[in-house]
Amino acid sequence: MRLILLGPPGVGKGTQAGFITRHYGIPQISTGDMLRVAVSHGTPLGREAKRYMDSGGLVPDDIIIELVKNRIREPDCGAGFLLDGFPRTVPQAEALAAARIEVDFIVEFRLDEDELLARSEGRLVHLPSGRTYHVLFNPPRVPGKDDVTGEDLVQRADDRMETARKRLEVYRLHAGALIGYYLARAGSGEPAAPRYVRIAAAGSPAEIREQVFAALDARAVVPMD
Ligand code: AMP
Repeated sequence: MRLILLGPPGVGKGTQAGFITRHYGIPQISTGDMLRVAVSHGTPLGREAKRYMDSGGLVPDDIIIELVKNRIREPDCGAGFLLDGFPRTVPQAEALAAARIEVDFIVEFRLDEDELLARSEGRLVHLPSGRTYHVLFNPPRVPGKDDVTGEDLVQRADDRMETARKRLEVYRLHAGALIGYYLARAGSGEPAAPRYVRIAAAGSPAEIREQVFAALDARAVVPMD
Protein backbone atom coordinates (compact mmCIF):
# COMPACT_ATOMS: atom_id res chain seq x y z
CA MET A 1 0.00 0.00 0.00
CA ARG A 2 1.46 3.34 -1.09
CA LEU A 3 -0.41 6.50 -0.33
CA ILE A 4 -0.20 10.25 -0.09
CA LEU A 5 -2.16 12.26 2.46
CA LEU A 6 -3.13 15.78 1.39
CA GLY A 7 -4.77 18.43 3.51
CA PRO A 8 -4.19 21.67 5.39
CA PRO A 9 -2.09 21.90 8.54
CA GLY A 10 -4.11 20.91 11.59
CA VAL A 11 -6.57 18.71 9.70
CA GLY A 12 -5.40 15.54 11.48
CA LYS A 13 -3.22 13.98 8.79
CA GLY A 14 -0.58 12.92 11.32
CA THR A 15 -3.13 11.21 13.55
CA GLN A 16 -4.74 9.35 10.65
CA ALA A 17 -1.30 8.51 9.28
CA GLY A 18 -0.60 6.70 12.56
CA PHE A 19 -3.75 4.56 12.17
CA ILE A 20 -3.08 3.75 8.52
CA THR A 21 0.59 2.86 8.91
CA ARG A 22 -0.12 0.55 11.86
CA HIS A 23 -2.92 -1.16 9.96
CA TYR A 24 -0.91 -1.77 6.78
CA GLY A 25 2.50 -2.20 8.42
CA ILE A 26 4.10 0.53 6.31
CA PRO A 27 6.38 3.42 7.33
CA GLN A 28 5.11 6.97 7.69
CA ILE A 29 7.24 9.43 5.80
CA SER A 30 6.47 12.80 7.27
CA THR A 31 8.68 15.52 5.84
CA GLY A 32 7.72 17.84 8.72
CA ASP A 33 8.84 15.23 11.28
CA MET A 34 12.07 14.58 9.37
CA LEU A 35 12.81 18.29 9.25
CA ARG A 36 12.00 18.79 12.94
CA VAL A 37 14.42 15.99 13.87
CA ALA A 38 17.09 17.62 11.67
CA VAL A 39 16.42 20.97 13.36
CA SER A 40 16.63 19.47 16.85
CA HIS A 41 19.97 17.81 15.97
CA GLY A 42 21.29 21.04 14.48
CA THR A 43 22.37 19.37 11.20
CA PRO A 44 23.16 21.53 8.15
CA LEU A 45 19.77 20.53 6.67
CA GLY A 46 18.08 21.42 9.95
CA ARG A 47 19.76 24.82 10.13
CA GLU A 48 18.73 25.59 6.55
CA ALA A 49 15.16 24.32 6.98
CA LYS A 50 14.57 26.15 10.27
CA ARG A 51 14.69 29.53 8.54
CA TYR A 52 11.64 28.62 6.49
CA MET A 53 9.80 26.56 9.08
CA ASP A 54 9.85 29.22 11.79
CA SER A 55 7.98 31.62 9.56
CA GLY A 56 5.46 29.03 8.35
CA GLY A 57 6.87 29.10 4.79
CA LEU A 58 7.92 26.13 2.67
CA VAL A 59 11.39 24.64 2.54
CA PRO A 60 12.70 24.83 -1.07
CA ASP A 61 11.52 22.02 -3.35
CA ASP A 62 14.99 20.70 -4.27
CA ILE A 63 15.95 20.11 -0.63
CA ILE A 64 12.72 18.34 0.24
CA ILE A 65 12.62 16.25 -2.94
CA GLU A 66 16.09 14.81 -2.27
CA LEU A 67 15.11 14.05 1.31
CA VAL A 68 12.02 12.10 0.26
CA LYS A 69 13.62 10.26 -2.66
CA ASN A 70 16.45 9.04 -0.39
CA ARG A 71 13.98 7.98 2.29
CA ILE A 72 11.84 5.98 -0.16
CA ARG A 73 14.92 4.08 -1.33
CA GLU A 74 15.35 2.62 2.17
CA PRO A 75 14.43 -1.07 2.47
CA ASP A 76 11.50 -0.59 4.85
CA CYS A 77 9.58 1.14 2.01
CA GLY A 78 9.62 -2.02 -0.12
CA ALA A 79 6.06 -3.03 0.86
CA GLY A 80 4.73 0.51 0.65
CA PHE A 81 4.79 3.83 2.48
CA LEU A 82 2.63 6.71 3.50
CA LEU A 83 3.64 10.25 2.55
CA ASP A 84 2.44 12.87 5.02
CA GLY A 85 3.17 16.51 4.23
CA PHE A 86 4.71 15.72 0.85
CA PRO A 87 4.15 16.61 -1.94
CA ARG A 88 3.03 20.13 -1.11
CA THR A 89 3.62 21.70 -4.53
CA VAL A 90 3.14 20.56 -8.12
CA PRO A 91 6.93 20.46 -8.76
CA GLN A 92 7.26 18.09 -5.79
CA ALA A 93 4.51 15.88 -7.23
CA GLU A 94 6.17 15.96 -10.65
CA ALA A 95 9.51 14.99 -9.09
CA LEU A 96 7.88 11.88 -7.61
CA ALA A 97 6.41 10.94 -10.97
CA ALA A 98 9.74 11.62 -12.72
CA ALA A 99 11.41 9.24 -10.26
CA ARG A 100 8.73 6.65 -11.15
CA ILE A 101 7.43 6.62 -7.60
CA GLU A 102 3.75 5.77 -8.02
CA VAL A 103 1.08 5.55 -5.33
CA ASP A 104 -2.18 3.61 -4.98
CA PHE A 105 -4.19 6.33 -3.23
CA ILE A 106 -4.34 10.06 -2.72
CA VAL A 107 -6.36 10.80 0.41
CA GLU A 108 -7.40 14.43 0.75
CA PHE A 109 -8.74 15.72 4.09
CA ARG A 110 -10.95 18.81 4.18
CA LEU A 111 -12.07 20.96 7.11
CA ASP A 112 -13.32 24.50 7.88
CA GLU A 113 -10.71 27.11 8.60
CA ASP A 114 -11.88 27.94 12.15
CA GLU A 115 -11.70 24.35 13.20
CA LEU A 116 -8.26 23.98 11.62
CA LEU A 117 -6.90 26.85 13.66
CA ALA A 118 -8.49 25.47 16.84
CA ARG A 119 -6.86 22.10 16.18
CA SER A 120 -3.43 23.59 15.56
CA GLU A 121 -3.68 25.64 18.73
CA GLY A 122 -4.07 22.74 21.17
CA ARG A 123 -1.78 20.33 19.37
CA LEU A 124 1.10 18.63 21.17
CA VAL A 125 3.82 16.52 19.58
CA HIS A 126 6.32 13.90 20.73
CA LEU A 127 9.31 15.04 18.70
CA PRO A 128 11.31 11.78 18.43
CA SER A 129 8.36 9.76 17.03
CA GLY A 130 6.16 12.47 15.52
CA ARG A 131 3.13 11.18 17.49
CA THR A 132 0.61 13.99 17.85
CA TYR A 133 -2.01 14.68 20.48
CA HIS A 134 -4.50 17.43 21.19
CA VAL A 135 -5.28 18.80 24.63
CA LEU A 136 -9.05 18.58 23.93
CA PHE A 137 -9.69 16.28 20.97
CA ASN A 138 -7.03 13.61 21.47
CA PRO A 139 -5.40 14.03 24.88
CA PRO A 140 -2.46 11.88 26.03
CA ARG A 141 -3.18 9.48 28.93
CA VAL A 142 -0.89 11.48 31.23
CA PRO A 143 -1.04 15.23 30.56
CA GLY A 144 2.05 16.45 28.71
CA LYS A 145 3.56 12.94 28.29
CA ASP A 146 3.80 10.61 25.30
CA ASP A 147 1.59 7.49 25.72
CA VAL A 148 4.29 5.09 24.49
CA THR A 149 7.54 6.41 25.96
CA GLY A 150 6.32 8.69 28.77
CA GLU A 151 8.59 11.41 27.40
CA ASP A 152 7.64 15.09 27.27
CA LEU A 153 5.29 16.46 24.64
CA VAL A 154 5.89 19.94 23.25
CA GLN A 155 3.89 22.53 21.35
CA ARG A 156 5.34 23.13 17.90
CA ALA A 157 6.65 26.67 17.52
CA ASP A 158 4.79 26.94 14.22
CA ASP A 159 1.47 25.98 15.83
CA ARG A 160 1.23 29.39 17.50
CA MET A 161 -1.77 31.23 16.10
CA GLU A 162 -0.01 33.71 13.85
CA THR A 163 2.26 31.11 12.25
CA ALA A 164 -0.60 28.62 12.00
CA ARG A 165 -2.52 31.20 9.97
CA LYS A 166 0.48 31.75 7.73
CA ARG A 167 0.86 27.99 7.15
CA LEU A 168 -2.79 27.79 6.20
CA GLU A 169 -2.30 30.61 3.71
CA VAL A 170 0.73 28.86 2.23
CA TYR A 171 -1.30 25.66 1.96
CA ARG A 172 -4.11 27.43 0.12
CA LEU A 173 -1.63 28.99 -2.25
CA HIS A 174 -0.47 25.60 -3.53
CA ALA A 175 -3.35 23.26 -2.74
CA GLY A 176 -5.62 24.03 -5.68
CA ALA A 177 -2.98 23.23 -8.27
CA LEU A 178 -1.74 20.16 -6.41
CA ILE A 179 -5.25 18.76 -5.98
CA GLY A 180 -5.96 19.51 -9.64
CA TYR A 181 -2.79 17.67 -10.62
CA TYR A 182 -3.78 14.52 -8.71
CA LEU A 183 -7.43 14.61 -9.77
CA ALA A 184 -6.21 14.71 -13.36
CA ARG A 185 -3.82 11.81 -12.73
CA ALA A 186 -6.58 9.82 -11.02
CA GLY A 187 -8.93 10.42 -13.94
CA SER A 188 -6.31 9.73 -16.62
CA GLY A 189 -7.16 6.06 -17.06
CA GLU A 190 -3.44 5.16 -16.93
CA PRO A 191 -2.82 1.74 -15.39
CA ALA A 192 -0.61 3.24 -12.67
CA ALA A 193 -3.04 6.07 -11.88
CA PRO A 194 -3.79 6.56 -8.19
CA ARG A 195 -7.31 6.55 -6.75
CA TYR A 196 -8.47 9.81 -5.28
CA VAL A 197 -10.36 9.78 -1.98
CA ARG A 198 -11.81 12.88 -0.32
CA ILE A 199 -12.59 12.81 3.40
CA ALA A 200 -14.66 15.38 5.33
CA ALA A 201 -12.44 15.54 8.39
CA ALA A 202 -14.95 16.87 10.95
CA GLY A 203 -15.52 14.49 13.86
CA SER A 204 -13.40 12.48 16.25
CA PRO A 205 -10.17 10.78 15.15
CA ALA A 206 -11.96 7.40 15.38
CA GLU A 207 -14.88 8.55 13.20
CA ILE A 208 -12.53 9.90 10.56
CA ARG A 209 -10.47 6.70 10.73
CA GLU A 210 -13.61 4.67 9.92
CA GLN A 211 -14.24 6.81 6.83
CA VAL A 212 -10.64 6.43 5.71
CA PHE A 213 -10.57 2.65 6.12
CA ALA A 214 -13.92 2.25 4.40
CA ALA A 215 -12.54 4.18 1.40
CA LEU A 216 -9.24 2.27 1.30
CA ASP A 217 -10.79 -1.16 1.82
CA ALA A 218 -13.42 -0.48 -0.85
CA ARG A 219 -10.62 -0.98 -3.32
CA ALA A 220 -10.69 -4.71 -2.62
CA VAL A 221 -14.31 -5.03 -3.75
CA VAL A 222 -14.49 -2.32 -6.41
CA PRO A 223 -13.30 -3.84 -9.68
CA MET A 224 -10.52 -1.88 -11.36
CA ASP A 225 -11.59 -0.62 -14.77
P1 AMP B 1 4.30 19.82 8.75
O1 AMP B 1 4.73 19.09 9.97
O2 AMP B 1 3.97 18.90 7.61
O3 AMP B 1 3.22 20.83 9.03
O4 AMP B 1 5.57 20.67 8.24
C1 AMP B 1 6.15 21.68 9.05
C2 AMP B 1 6.98 22.62 8.20
O5 AMP B 1 8.03 21.88 7.53
C3 AMP B 1 6.23 23.29 7.06
O6 AMP B 1 5.54 24.46 7.49
C4 AMP B 1 7.36 23.60 6.08
O7 AMP B 1 8.13 24.71 6.51
C5 AMP B 1 8.24 22.38 6.22
N1 AMP B 1 7.83 21.31 5.26
C6 AMP B 1 7.33 20.08 5.55
N2 AMP B 1 7.06 19.38 4.44
C7 AMP B 1 7.38 20.19 3.40
C8 AMP B 1 7.31 20.05 1.98
N3 AMP B 1 6.84 18.92 1.40
N4 AMP B 1 7.74 21.08 1.22
C9 AMP B 1 8.22 22.21 1.77
N5 AMP B 1 8.29 22.42 3.10
C10 AMP B 1 7.89 21.42 3.92
